[in-house]
Amino acid sequence: MRRNKHYKAIVLSSRSFGEHNRYISLLTQEGIIDAAVYGARKPSSRFAPASQIGAAGDYYLYYNPVKDNYKLTDTAGTKLLASSVLPVSASFIFFSELVLSTHAAGQPKEVWKLAIWLWRRLFIGLEEDGTFVAKSGGADITLSPIKTYNLHRLTMFLLYTALHYMEIMGLLPDWQTCSHCTKSLAKQPAIWTETGLLCPACSGTSAEYTHGRITLTAAQRTILSDIAEGRQNPDTHPLSSPDLYSATLNLLLEKTERIAERRIKSLIFLRQCLSL
Ligand SMILES: [Zn+2]
Repeated sequence: MRRNKHYKAIVLSSRSFGEHNRYISLLTQEGIIDAAVYGARKPSSRFAPASQIGAAGDYYLYYNPVKDNYKLTDTAGTKLLASSVLPVSASFIFFSELVLSTHAAGQPKEVWKLAIWLWRRLFIGLEEDGTFVAKSGGADITLSPIKTYNLHRLTMFLLYTALHYMEIMGLLPDWQTCSHCTKSLAKQPAIWTETGLLCPACSGTSAEYTHGRITLTAAQRTILSDIAEGRQNPDTHPLSSPDLYSATLNLLLEKTERIAERRIKSLIFLRQCLSL
């Protein structure tokens, strides 16, 4: 087994150990890898930036087969999220906690793609009018740190990210049909359960359906299905009815927490930042 390894990676979490060190959890296309970063907490450490949550770049690791662990030996091209913009860092911390608590949904390649999608949008920046600004395309993308953000556009990014994470987990419902009686939901509100959406008539029929119910209006279902199925592009969709989008995101975040099957602590912070 090769002991020196190189990964494109994003830091999902970073925690102190010992007097000067950190453990980081890296999202890579091969899965989540925990690595020790010795000396990372010393101000002089060249690894201090690369061991912050949201840092992304090339990570070189040494694998110790006896101890079955990794340590960081080098980094290149590290870029950091603008941690001073609270809604941005709160969004990434929430995503990281979701990925860690679900073990990257067992689909690290797909989660990696989604993570890069979100990371670029959080990093590159949002103009005041809410347009997503890509500086250039392709592998040699030139990134400049975020200066402004637009809350509505950030809401769109989080809706997209949470929906696509559920899609990776195979947990998106049929948005138009009751999963019990198979009738069209039409303009009725629907109850989102573990098995899909239920019409009002079916939602009262079984005790299992009362557990953890989330009710979506027809308008909220339309938003979710339009984003999930690509009819609304989160980068370019016009800014409209922000309250409806915020309320929809709030419900989706609640559903995300149920799917993770544990409390996502960073959700409280994210909700505060987004005034949900
Ligand atoms: Zn029904």
